Amino acid sequence: MPAPDQHDDTTVPAGRRWSAAVLRWVDTEASATDDARDPDRIDWLRALPFAGMHLACLGVIWVGVSPTALWVALALYVVRMFAITGFYHRYFSHRAYRASRAAQFVFGVVGSSAVQRGPLWWAAHHRHHHRHADLEVDLHSPRHGFWRSHMLWFLTPRGFRTDLSRVPDLAKFPELRWLDRFDTVVPVLLAVSLYAVGAVLEQRAPHLDTNGPQLLIWGFFVSTVVLFHASVTINSLAHRFGRRRFDTRDDSRNNWWLALLTLGEGWHNNHHFYPGSARQGLRWWEVDVTYYGLKLLAMLRVVGDLKSYPAWVTAREVA
Ligand SMILES: [Zn+2]
Ligand SMILES: [Zn+2]
Repeated sequence: MPAPDQHDDTTVPAGRRWSAAVLRWVDTEASATDDARDPDRIDWLRALPFAGMHLACLGVIWVGVSPTALWVALALYVVRMFAITGFYHRYFSHRAYRASRAAQFVFGVVGSSAVQRGPLWWAAHHRHHHRHADLEVDLHSPRHGFWRSHMLWFLTPRGFRTDLSRVPDLAKFPELRWLDRFDTVVPVLLAVSLYAVGAVLEQRAPHLDTNGPQLLIWGFFVSTVVLFHASVTINSLAHRFGRRRFDTRDDSRNNWWLALLTLGEGWHNNHHFYPGSARQGLRWWEVDVTYYGLKLLAMLRVVGDLKSYPAWVTAREVA
């Protein structure tokens, strides 16, 4: 007998499948009707908001551009890239430093403004990637093709799920579970805030030459879409292009231009060799902006116990 949420496709009416998919746009724990049917297929209904984010960028044709809008888009790119690499990746996924429960919640909120789902989903899939990097079960290995590794993997029922058994240390916090369940709340608040700030600036500071729709399109949609594609180059390109300093079991590479684009994540071969380090650059010239930001947070006592590479790693270098 199938498990309660495992139905053959033919037993679930199309209307119910569609309403369930739409409900999961806002509540990621809403029951799945047909996830058991080929869990690696692209779920196009689930993918609609993702496609919509890209289409919304075309709004620049109507709202125009201003230096204000470009600065806001750039600032939100930098802050949210830092949140993805410094919080979602190095804290939630790898626990490379310590933080209080309150700070951890703030990290989760800022991280979820990047529109890359909740912290538990992100960390669960990322831990799975490290355990099985570039093996058959690795959902975003470029061995499955560029587009599969870049973005198609998370548009599948298997990629959509959060396997809580991989993140028991995070799942015990109800506030993080809530952020993960309703992962569109923070992004929607950010979008609404940008529109409101733009509308106020139009009235109070007309010399800035901006307005609500313009800040919404540039600050939210364009910034988020560029941020997304830059982040996932680490899955699609950093396992393909660059140098290998360590002979890891996977295809990870060190790549300086990906490191600049992603604030330090491009030192991906170093990272796969020793994932527990808060710092990913190993040499002084391996620019790792996220690490400098974390050092600053450590000086301000927001975080502590930043882990680094142990001395023995240099003896394992092969190039
Ligand atoms: Zn990797
Ligand atoms: Zn990692």
